[in-house]
Amino acid sequence: MQPGGKLEITLLKKERSGWLSTCGLPFALQGIYDIETTEITKAEEFLKQGVDFRTQTEAVELNTDEKSVRLRSGEELRYDFLVIATGRTPVLPKAVEDAMNNVKRVHTFSNEEDAEQIYASMRDAKNGFVRGRGIIALQTAVAFAKRGIKTTVLGGPPSLLPSMLDADMGDILKEYLERNYDIRFILERKEIKALNADAEGNVRSVLVEGADGEEEEIPADVVVIARGFRPNTELARSAGIETGESGGIITDKAMHVRKKGKFLRDVFALGDCVEVVDAITHKRRLAQLASAVLVQARVIADNIVSEISGEVRAYSTYEPCISPTVAAIGGMLVGSVGITSEEARRNGIKVLAGKAQKVSKARYFPGAEKINAKLLFDAHSERLLGAQIVSSAEGVAERINELSLAIKFGMTAKEICMNERCYDPSLALLKDVFVDAAENALKA
Ligand SMILES: Cc1cc2nc3c(=O)[nH]c(=O)nc-3n(C[C@H](O)[C@H](O)[C@H](O)COP(=O)(O)OP(=O)(O)OC[C@H]3O[C@@H](n4cnc5c(N)ncnc54)[C@H](O)[C@@H]3O)c2cc1C
Repeated sequence: MQPGGKLEITLLKKERSGWLSTCGLPFALQGIYDIETTEITKAEEFLKQGVDFRTQTEAVELNTDEKSVRLRSGEELRYDFLVIATGRTPVLPKAVEDAMNNVKRVHTFSNEEDAEQIYASMRDAKNGFVRGRGIIALQTAVAFAKRGIKTTVLGGPPSLLPSMLDADMGDILKEYLERNYDIRFILERKEIKALNADAEGNVRSVLVEGADGEEEEIPADVVVIARGFRPNTELARSAGIETGESGGIITDKAMHVRKKGKFLRDVFALGDCVEVVDAITHKRRLAQLASAVLVQARVIADNIVSEISGEVRAYSTYEPCISPTVAAIGGMLVGSVGITSEEARRNGIKVLAGKAQKVSKARYFPGAEKINAKLLFDAHSERLLGAQIVSSAEGVAERINELSLAIKFGMTAKEICMNERCYDPSLALLKDVFVDAAENALKA
């Protein structure tokens, strides 16, 4: 810190780019723009603003007693405040972990360097294989299919995007991707048993094995593993910083980390490496969404300012997380917030579910698109706990943001039915799909 309380900021990252939109990378693979376009601010711009932005730099040791960070180069940096945002690491099936270093054209997908390698492997590929059924896996499968690569997706039961959607909603997306992109989905309990390569070491097929021992060899000359991520916490843990049952770094509401049972006032953590409290189940879990990271970053910035200035009003807290999520998967938009039916069941929460399918504007108006909506309400209080949308109509993000507020402020099914909504036949229906879904939940 400089005299007068002005902060000197040092930013470290392992990749070579500046500030880059990871979320934009799957669309670059789909050919919508170049990978380089996703670099929003180059490192030099940060340097011009006085931020010591160091790319291709790795921290190898933290010492919270000495208030220092040691780099791989041996250099030691001192800090007044430390913010840990080390992200996440892909989880690999055992057979892939063993083969990853020997078999080429097998990738994980976490950053722009992965995107560049996937892109290079896609160029002359005829058969693609994706392990996973989350957003990144499906967006990658669409990228393959758009480039004419015959694609197989190995997920698991019961359907697609299980952390966002109930199986009946996931199936709408699955059928759409089968019909429009000719993607083959394997959603039984199966795992990769082996990756077979040619004499040059390039992958040629994936051997998949079912729980019953049945095997199938699937041709593949590009493979992407996007089966899930665990928080990257080794650096923090080796400094004695505590992690929780989800594997993420434990923080308090101010985002301070915990060591030997005490929260450290000068060390914060955020992002994919921390655990959050779920707003519905009140359990600790991972969020791993850019939307959560942004709010956490604002909380930390406020709290460092508050600490330096002594201004109590600047202090902020990160509240329990409802994870509003939206994704464009091919031409279909998928959104969700709050819990799914399966998560409710696992947590012993009884829900009333209501579904509806309507169009996005007046039936007679050109360009009306279908909206499939599902709302989940607490069976006793009838308050909204979860919402899911699968639709080819624009506006899914705005709808999910609206429902996030409805959950946050405890709206009931009846209140959603009675809520006044704006109307113009070219933009909306007089009676919205949410109203029908809420009515159907009350009839359930
Ligand atoms: C392909 C893809 C698409 C996504 N799409 C979306 C989306 O549409 N919407 C959404 O909300 N979220 C999306 N996400 C998730 C979102 O990108 C992450 O939640 C967000 O980037 C997490 O930010 P973070 O800072 O915690 O981690 P990251 O962005 O992963 O950054 C971690 C950084 O820490 C650095 N690092 C780690 N260890 C060290 C070390 N020892 N020394 C120095 N540096 C280190 C890494 O180099 C990296 O730069 C997507 C993720 C991926 C991979």
